Amino acid sequence: MARDPRYDILFEPMAIGPVTAKNRFYQVPHCNGGGYRDPSAAAEMRRVKAEGGWGVVFTEQVEMHHTSEISPYIELRLWDDEDIPMLAKMAGKIHEFDCLAGVELTYSGINGPNLYTKEVPRGPSAGPIRTFTSDPVQARAMDKQDINDLRRWHRAACRRSKEAGFDLICLYAAHSFGVIQHFLSRATNQRTDEYGGSLENRSRLMRELIEDAKDEVGDTMGITLRLSLNEMLGERGFSNAEVRDCIEMNADVPDLWDLAHGSWEDCSGTSRFKEEGAQENLVTGIKSLTAKPVVGVGRFTSPDAMVRQLKSGILDFIGAARPSIADPFLPNKIDEDRLDDIRECIGCNICVTGDMTMSISRCTQNPSFMEEWRKGWHPENMQTKGASESVLIVGAGPAGLEATRALGLRGYQVALAEAGTELGGRVAQECKLPNLSAWGRVRDYREGQIRKMPNVDIYFDSALTAEDVLEFGFENVAVATGATWRRDGVGRFHLHPMTIAEEMPVFTPDDLMAGKLPTGSVVLFDDDHFYMGGVLAELLVGQGCSVTLVTPSAYVSDWTNNTLEQHFIQKRLIELDVDIHVTRAISTVASDHVTTECTYSGRGLDLAADAVVMVTSRIGNDELWTGLKARENEWAGAGIKSAKVIGDAEAPAPIAWATYAGHRFARELDGGEIGDALPFRREVAHLAV
Ligand code: ADP
Ligand code: SF4
Repeated sequence: MARDPRYDILFEPMAIGPVTAKNRFYQVPHCNGGGYRDPSAAAEMRRVKAEGGWGVVFTEQVEMHHTSEISPYIELRLWDDEDIPMLAKMAGKIHEFDCLAGVELTYSGINGPNLYTKEVPRGPSAGPIRTFTSDPVQARAMDKQDINDLRRWHRAACRRSKEAGFDLICLYAAHSFGVIQHFLSRATNQRTDEYGGSLENRSRLMRELIEDAKDEVGDTMGITLRLSLNEMLGERGFSNAEVRDCIEMNADVPDLWDLAHGSWEDCSGTSRFKEEGAQENLVTGIKSLTAKPVVGVGRFTSPDAMVRQLKSGILDFIGAARPSIADPFLPNKIDEDRLDDIRECIGCNICVTGDMTMSISRCTQNPSFMEEWRKGWHPENMQTKGASESVLIVGAGPAGLEATRALGLRGYQVALAEAGTELGGRVAQECKLPNLSAWGRVRDYREGQIRKMPNVDIYFDSALTAEDVLEFGFENVAVATGATWRRDGVGRFHLHPMTIAEEMPVFTPDDLMAGKLPTGSVVLFDDDHFYMGGVLAELLVGQGCSVTLVTPSAYVSDWTNNTLEQHFIQKRLIELDVDIHVTRAISTVASDHVTTECTYSGRGLDLAADAVVMVTSRIGNDELWTGLKARENEWAGAGIKSAKVIGDAEAPAPIAWATYAGHRFARELDGGEIGDALPFRREVAHLAV
């Protein structure tokens, strides 16, 4: 279909130095948890985005020299010529389509603890390394020789980038992750030589590195700079006002200004804390300071919001990391007037957790992310169906919906049976919690897709039993019946049920989401450690309860450190006057109070309570599955060739695990037994001779 002319502006080409992007869709650098360990997986992931229509696709952060590396985190490296083939593979994959390939070169300075190379870190001024892991390591101040060395290494990295085939170089000076920012900021640059003091001096290294890059490779490559719009350290750091002064002073030095924001936590805010386009006021007006193109981010998924950014002269390119992960085909879908098919990012930052846990990234909305090479999964295409014809999916949560969508696409006759009267399972409930409305997109996208499929039938009010399933006789069955929060306190701290007085009202997250709410003073026990405990504390405060949160962890919602939210959650709960008790667990629940213990010393503390909310763990709803399993000898007679339990019913986990499970079921149906073989490709290091 032809594109709506309203969106034409998004498809106008634009020059970046000596090269030209075919449109305004600019995939800014983003991590993926694979990096140098999984280079082919990362390369194929970038290729798929080029296929999906992005005009520019960047690598993740690439370490330009071994004296500045960020282990344990896994990104790419360009330490010497040996790393070129890995980068060349990625650039080559991006070039299979009409797309510019960019490399983000980073010298991490005070962000690089050098745990692997054991080199002494270097920064503008001496001081502790600033990373997520607070390593007990300090950087030394760079002297003139060090600056000359850095400039030489940087030139070498630019040459290697060109040799690898890239069109664009981005110098990383954002998120407090690059040495250029450390020089720019008064907070981290306390030098008294010509590289410190005035803004002119603090931006000297930035200018020198950009000019060196232009001198080396600027004839064929565009040289861009990625800056944070505000370091978020007030006037003592690199404030938004100073960023503007810096851009005005160096207006035409880089070929493009790529504007990120603050720390990574500030920039990649989740939908719980930030709206689409949240950086608009920080970026507005910057375009008038420079003749060079300006890129900005803001979790843009709406084409109208994108058009507005361009038409009102705020941005020249729509920068995107997460929207391009959730839907690598976002540009093509706008181009082909298929807006209903856009798989919008929900802003959950599960993708970030792959990097933070150094595993490999996954995406709640796009289960194929980082599986493009490992498993050969494409975000848009499914292989055509196998030998069998029909599939029954029981349960319309994220797992069941994704299985239905993907099997429908394969061409199976799919029946989706749901006990309730709406689609979405847990997301239909959770999206009603404070600030989680975007999570409804997990359902909305899939509902939109399957409603268009003539080969998919949806049955509501259909709480199926094993007997029903055997009677229906579908050839294949997936049981995706979800999970239920426990009431008995079992989780990580208590492996057996707690002693709970009968008089004390005990609520679970399911109760609260169903509108069954406690009143008065409520003690919430969070032994789950992801978002639910913190979100429910907010909900209860909003309902007028006085809330005490007890958690065995040292942090509220501890695992949200991996989604970059922990700081914001604890701040919000403190501001809401939630009484927070960390490193403490509920031992027993009495009729009018709970007894708690310190997780280190065991010291007790009684807390008065009118009600208790248990956020500890969930139990899979596996009644149907165990019922079916018990009658496996009847399957063949009933015409059932295969049956599986998937998603939370198999083992409860975050929503992204459920969409992955649903997708995997759909991919592997009629695929034959994988048996004991490894179900994905990987790269194994070659032994040195
Ligand atoms: P997941 O995250 O694994 O997709 P959810 O809990 O989100 O799991 O969704 C499970 C869905 O299954 C819910 O909508 C629930 O109503 C439905 N369900 C549970 N048991 C049955 C059953 N026996 N028959 C049909 N639907 C069921
Ligand atoms: Fe968006 Fe969540 Fe996917 Fe990341 S994991 S791209 S935040 S939907």
